[in-house]
Amino acid sequence: MDLKTFIRDIEDFPRQGVVFKDITPLLANAKAIRYTLDRLVEMVGVHGVDKVVGMESRGFFFGPLLAQRLNAGFVPVRKPNKLPSEKISQTYDLEYGTDTLDMHSDAILAGEKVLVHDDVLATGGTAKATCNLVERLGGEIVQCNFLIELDFLKGRDKLGETPVKALLNY
Ligand code: AMP
Repeated sequence: MDLKTFIRDIEDFPRQGVVFKDITPLLANAKAIRYTLDRLVEMVGVHGVDKVVGMESRGFFFGPLLAQRLNAGFVPVRKPNKLPSEKISQTYDLEYGTDTLDMHSDAILAGEKVLVHDDVLATGGTAKATCNLVERLGGEIVQCNFLIELDFLKGRDKLGETPVKALLNY
């Protein structure tokens, strides 16, 4: 199945100069969902995974599905002021200004094996901040996996030694 036919390019969204990779056509197709999930599971390989961590908000689509298939728990990483219980925060740099992500302090236990998942790897700032949150709680990242990697933004360079995999590259 050619998954790229289910990814829609939206020019100048959310702002001028950005080509937004819209995955809603993929989400709307049952066969494409199943195919994507099968490939994501294959990509994880033989690693045992205790927790899948997904980033708000498009990491929440396949994150819990992946967790279920890997017999792992799911942990949401959220934008500020969304999580109700005790949490840790990580601030990271954007092109203009900064952003912050939160995770519940009890979401990951020291030594747990963690898969980080999001829809798109762009500059890598979001994934790097998420990895920092996981590592601050003592989690061990086995892989960062994405539906889509925007190669020209070199996000994987920001993730250093962490194994990075993506289903589709642009
Ligand atoms: P970054 O931190 O630059 O790697 O950006 C990653 C986050 O922004 C992910 O959560 C993506 O969902 C979103 N994102 C960044 N660029 C795009 C894009 N061109 N199309 C769709 N989502 C994007």
